Amino acid sequence: MRLGFLLLVAVQALGSLGLPLVYSNASNISNVSSASNVSRVEQSVIVGTSNGFFWPQPETPFPSWLTDFTGLTEWPGIDPPYIALDFIDVDRLPKYEPYSLDQCERVPRDACSFDCHSCLEPDDIYTCPKLSQTFDDGPSGETEALLGKLTHKTTFFTVGVNVVRHPNVYRRMVEEGHLIGTHTWSHPYLPTLSNEQIIAQLEWSIWAMNATGHHYPKYFRPPYGAIDNRVRAIARLFGLQAVLWDRDTFDWQLSVPSLRTTEDIVRDVQEWKTRNGGLILEHDASANTVEAATRVSELLGNDQLTVAECVGGIDYIKKYY
Ligand SMILES: [Zn+2]
Repeated sequence: MRLGFLLLVAVQALGSLGLPLVYSNASNISNVSSASNVSRVEQSVIVGTSNGFFWPQPETPFPSWLTDFTGLTEWPGIDPPYIALDFIDVDRLPKYEPYSLDQCERVPRDACSFDCHSCLEPDDIYTCPKLSQTFDDGPSGETEALLGKLTHKTTFFTVGVNVVRHPNVYRRMVEEGHLIGTHTWSHPYLPTLSNEQIIAQLEWSIWAMNATGHHYPKYFRPPYGAIDNRVRAIARLFGLQAVLWDRDTFDWQLSVPSLRTTEDIVRDVQEWKTRNGGLILEHDASANTVEAATRVSELLGNDQLTVAECVGGIDYIKKYY
């Protein structure tokens, strides 16, 4: 109960501020990769149903404080229930219409969509003074192979259903000094969802991290880079700061060798090294992307930063002991 109480106090304090705590000081957005063709066909990383899990089942125990708060006794499936939070008034959120993957033409420019228009807001993080790797979609059975190879601290954006399925991998990430942010509960295309569904995606991902790693995240990467000012407004209410990227390995294409090979990625990284800094998008949910990530890590060496270090920010909003 105490953990849940502390979680809510933290959220309420941030909600009353109404602003994220850390801002990117980067202003040059010319290097941002075109997000409109990014990760459109990203491999599915979630196996489950709307009301339950397929194998592997959750291993993180469902905490009693979360039962007290939600009335539930087990982790939800891929369509998590909306639990109202008293610091969020859905009627005061921006009124931008939901849109799906193929509806960018109906998205107004002032919605500032990153996936449709490569648009960034001042508090979005998208680059780094040192060329640095980041990893989405884990933790997975493959993440451990990557952890065994990394000799520098890096940033993982984890999916809640995978956090509760692989709590030991998650805790190893934390113990080895890596930074972890949220990548939602079950990896949907957020702009399609209602306000309540977006809130559910963020709150359940935070509770999974809270129950598994005993911390409250600061950083949030939207799946597919799909974020507009409606999604941003909801994320900010949780104190979350959006993290995008300006160097894309397109490693999800490695599953189709005619599309992309590890050598293609190595060639791109060698070119990126000749420029100033950058934030690289990679994935740790499959063997081929982890193999490529290991090659990239060897190429870049240890002179990399976590996302928090990139912007001189905090690692977590709160840690619970
Ligand atoms: Zn993802």
